[in-house]
Amino acid sequence: MTTSTATTALRGLFLGMTVAVAAAGTALAGTGAPKAPEVKIGKVAVAPNLHMMLGVGGFTGGNVAALTGPDGLLIVDDKVADFGEALEKALDALGKGKPRFVLNTHWHFDHVGGNERFGAAVIVAHDNVRRLMSAPQEFKSLQKKIPAAAPAALPDVTYNDRLTIHFNGEEIQVHHFQGGHTDGDSVVYFKGAKVLHLGDLFFNGTFPFADVDHGGNAFRLTRNIGVILERFPADAKVIPGHGPLATMADLRAYHAMLQATTKIVKDAADKGMDLAAITAQGFPPEWKKWEWAFIDSTKWIHIIHASLGK
Ligand SMILES: [Zn+2]
Repeated sequence: MTTSTATTALRGLFLGMTVAVAAAGTALAGTGAPKAPEVKIGKVAVAPNLHMMLGVGGFTGGNVAALTGPDGLLIVDDKVADFGEALEKALDALGKGKPRFVLNTHWHFDHVGGNERFGAAVIVAHDNVRRLMSAPQEFKSLQKKIPAAAPAALPDVTYNDRLTIHFNGEEIQVHHFQGGHTDGDSVVYFKGAKVLHLGDLFFNGTFPFADVDHGGNAFRLTRNIGVILERFPADAKVIPGHGPLATMADLRAYHAMLQATTKIVKDAADKGMDLAAITAQGFPPEWKKWEWAFIDSTKWIHIIHASLGK
């Protein structure tokens, strides 16, 4: 599979996001088609030397953290490959040159898409991220195949449980949380700035995705968020994998949703209801507002159900 067909296949994973990604391309130029809104990389100041880089006007991939200082530039995640150039320009504007470190929160294409572009950096991730990226993978639940990554895109440094990087006067802690979103999730904590990047353990304000084909599990995800709420300061700022910058209060609201919705599905299954019956029953109206284009109640119920007993 070539890179471009792989990218096209990958886009299909994010059903509702496909429009925005396509709109950002040049394919529509000169066709007389209505001009689509432009998708750009924006930035939000999180701390004096720490920015969150995010898509403005559409989907560009997961949120990026960028730490600047006398040692240079360190980033967490690097979006989808199609937006690598736009991300590079936005990072160049921070005035610290190319990234010296790239930390990947997990292996998904919308978080590691720029790895090859930033391949001169030291790329750091959990052991399982390198393992998953090194070989073709398949999302069985979504019937999507992912090719192996180019060698330059693979993490150079991998770790098992916890790793600390000292850079720009900051203590950057990388904590592994097993089996929530994937089997290679990292949580990055900037201790001095009190800023967390949770990767896709946290979709701020929406139902999350758990990659059950690669070790993810809705119940472990819920437990991991509970541990994160206890382990890190209540006044930490939180960069989610997707969605706007958050507080720990936002993370608590998300945790309450996870606890309630996973319990609804588990209780129904314990009563002997099958997946079709649970899906037909759905969630009470209070959880409707967490639906979005990629994960509606039905998809979230399917993910929780697939996580049962694992
Ligand atoms: Zn992900």
